[in-house]
Formats: sequence, C-alpha cells, structure tokens
Amino acid sequence: MSEKLLTDTQKNVIETFDKISAAANEAKRDPSEIRLMAVTKTVAPEKVNEAIKAGCDLLGENKVQELLEKYESYDKSAEIHFIGSLQTNKVKYIVNKVTMIESVDSIKLAEEIEKRCAKIGKTMDILLEVNIANEESKGGFSPEEVVEASVKISEFPHLRLRGLMTIGRFGAEIEETRQYFAKMRALLVDIKSKNIDNIYINILSMGMSGDFELAVSEGANIVRVGRGLFGERNYNKV
Ligand SMILES: *Cc1c(COP(=O)(O)O)cnc(C)c1O
Repeated sequence: MSEKLLTDTQKNVIETFDKISAAANEAKRDPSEIRLMAVTKTVAPEKVNEAIKAGCDLLGENKVQELLEKYESYDKSAEIHFIGSLQTNKVKYIVNKVTMIESVDSIKLAEEIEKRCAKIGKTMDILLEVNIANEESKGGFSPEEVVEASVKISEFPHLRLRGLMTIGRFGAEIEETRQYFAKMRALLVDIKSKNIDNIYINILSMGMSGDFELAVSEGANIVRVGRGLFGERNYNKV
C-alpha cells in the first residue's frame, strides 16, 4: 500500500503492529504469537473495514445490539470475538456470529453458551474473564475462584476453554498493571497444571490502547485496541 493513500485508521493499524513486534522482540517473543484485535465499539463499519484492509483480522465486539446492527456490513475476512458483558438471554443471537467469547464471567453464562452451541452443533472457544484487581464494580471470576471454575467449565462438551481475559484496573499505575498481567500469566499456568484436557489453553487476552506493549512483555497473545486505532470514541453517534 502506498503511504499516501492510507487512511488514518490504516496508518494506526500498521503502526500498532510495528509496536507489537518491537515489544515482542524486546521480550524475546515471536511477534506472530500475538494478535491485534480491533475493538469496534461506536466505530462505523466502513472504518472498521479500513482496519481489516490494513491487515487486522480480528474484531472485538462488546455489545450484542451493536454487533447485530453492524455484522452484515463487516468485511467477512475478519474473525469476531465477543468481549463485553453478556446477558444469558442474548447468547442465542451471537453464537453463530463469533468465533470466541472472551468474556465468560459466570458458570451460568457458560451453561447457556453450552446449551445454545449444542443446538447448532458448534464448539465455541471461550476465555474466562478475570477480575484481576478484585474490584467490586467489575464482573468476572476473582483470581481465587477462576482455577476451580476452569476445571468445571472444561467438562462442557461444546465449549473449548482457551485461556483467560482481563480488563485490568482503570487508572492503575504501570507497575500495578504489570503485576496484574503477571498474575494473569501465573493463573494460566495454574489452570494448565490441573488435570484437565488442556492442550488448547494458551491464550491471554490483555492490554488495551494504553498498555498493550506492557501486556505483550508480560505474555499477552491477544491485545485489544480501540482508541489507538480509531481515535477517541463518540458515544453519541451510535
Ligand atoms: C473498549 C474496550 C477495549 C479497548 O479499549 P481502548 O482503550 O479503546 O483501547 C478493550 N477491551 C474491552 C473489553 C473494551 O470494552
């Protein structure tokens, strides 16, 4: 692509891939192990498609309604992961549209995904969302309960547990955030050490616009970037 013809979004995607590669190299990791997710909330589908054209092959959706409204307009070459809080009564609308649900935050939600996927004969990749800072305002499994939950959920025939996701604590200092990311990695190791069929458990989804390089250095293999690709969000537009 000629530099001049690139949109701002495309330049941001290329720049972000470069930063991921640099952070990976610095951490002696293979950059190809890390996927860049474009977080699309409030962003028009045309702009999302620009990111896909620039090489981003993974979208993150955090609202069911918004996903349903925009789904048909998305370039189908990208995969979609669901990353937002998901009510059980809405699971049925998205199971045939996403390849992973990263925000499984309760056994009850896992049971509903199991039920809906059994109906359509699909096995869904999932991550368990961890409330890593034990914040009262936030959903997700606490670090203390996530290992036990993973053992239980790994028995569901239509779910394939792939790893863990976290949002971190908004406003945390770098050093605090680094500790959360490191704790996430330790939890993943704990889960893998349990006597469950764990060959697929290798994903850590963590790091956003402000801290994805730090997340890469602490072992992330999905980083979820919104504003860093599309600019500041305008919630009034959607
Ligand atoms: C919005 C959002 C992001 C991206 O946040 P930015 O600060 O825009 O990069 C990542 N993960 C989740 C779950 C989100 O809702």
